[in-house]
Amino acid sequence: MSIELSATDRLREAGIRVTVPRLLIFQYLIDNRTHPTCDRIYSDLKDSNPSLSLATVYNVTEKLAEERLVTVIVSPDGERHYDSVTDFHGHFYCDQCGSIYDFKCRPDKMPECLKGAVVKSVSYIARGFCPECAGNH
Ligand SMILES: [Zn+2]
Ligand SMILES: [Zn+2]
Repeated sequence: MSIELSATDRLREAGIRVTVPRLLIFQYLIDNRTHPTCDRIYSDLKDSNPSLSLATVYNVTEKLAEERLVTVIVSPDGERHYDSVTDFHGHFYCDQCGSIYDFKCRPDKMPECLKGAVVKSVSYIARGFCPECAGNH
């Protein structure tokens, strides 16, 4: 049985100071596994948190990414999306609506030619049209 740590506990465990915006944005990312951008996060949270600024959202998401509490996915259009699921998985990107879907996959063993290399990250990105958009093509 695994015990889900709360957002507060996970921030503390990472050794970063728990502040209201950090907790708010981290909790939002845990609740919304739709790979939102900073603009999306800001527009969803600003009404209930009038003191929140877009600059804060940028700072907090980068801090969370730096501490590996969230991962950053750069979509083909160059937008940065944030993901609270940090276990390895692939992303499917819809060229029509820009939605990003998770899919399960495992990183393959590195090929022989990379022996001795330092691999810092591996990502799987699939592109095409999502089921909703595929009908229009
Ligand atoms: Zn789509
Ligand atoms: Zn994901």
